[in-house]
Amino acid sequence: MINLEEVKKAGLLFHTGLLLFSVAPSLIVFLLLLAVGVELPISFAAGLLTIAVFQVYGLLYEKGVTDNPIPLRLSFWTLKALQSAHTLPPHTPEKMVVTMNNRKALSETGRKFSSDETLILIPHCLQNHECPRRLTFDPDSCERCGKCPIGRILEIRDRFGTHFAIASGGTSARRIVEKTEPLLIVAVACPVDLSLGILDVHPITVVGVLNEWRNGPCFDTWVNTEELEAALELFLD
Ligand code: SF4
Repeated sequence: MINLEEVKKAGLLFHTGLLLFSVAPSLIVFLLLLAVGVELPISFAAGLLTIAVFQVYGLLYEKGVTDNPIPLRLSFWTLKALQSAHTLPPHTPEKMVVTMNNRKALSETGRKFSSDETLILIPHCLQNHECPRRLTFDPDSCERCGKCPIGRILEIRDRFGTHFAIASGGTSARRIVEKTEPLLIVAVACPVDLSLGILDVHPITVVGVLNEWRNGPCFDTWVNTEELEAALELFLD
């Protein structure tokens, strides 16, 4: 679900995104103070202090002192702007959000949830493209034939007795969450859907599991079901 190297990399990216974001407000503070006649060294120090405030806010989020995802959002959108200039590999900001979120969620494993408060949410692209079952309407019509991971996920759902839904996209996922009102979501999705979903559903606790693109994006994707099971074992009462 998470490894130390990824956590280190994500932490570094998270703070870099925040640092880059804070350059503009710190410049504004610096120039404003100069404009009203404050001495240059004091204006400069105030600008630096503004940068430091953002970094401290980021640290508070990282250490779980604050639950508010504003620093994560600021860093994410700054990195997205960088990515649009092709300065970062694809999905770097998205994977940063997923890793930072999972790290935070896993640091709260002392908090337990009941099965009724928990939702397993998966994307429809996990379903084998040849399967004729209409799972978004009735997931239990799955025959658990083993051609895709959905049958195994349903077994996990049965073991834990949680809510379960298959989303056909971001809007559908949002509707499912509104209807189910879970306190814990164990979500499978691609980096884009997962990161936006995580930022969207705050303050619900989300454990995100990235799907595997064995056949390219959005087509016969796969997921390591052991990760799902491990997350549920950690969080369920
Ligand atoms: S496990 Fe088999 S029946 Fe179930 S959704 Fe996948 S392909 Fe269809």
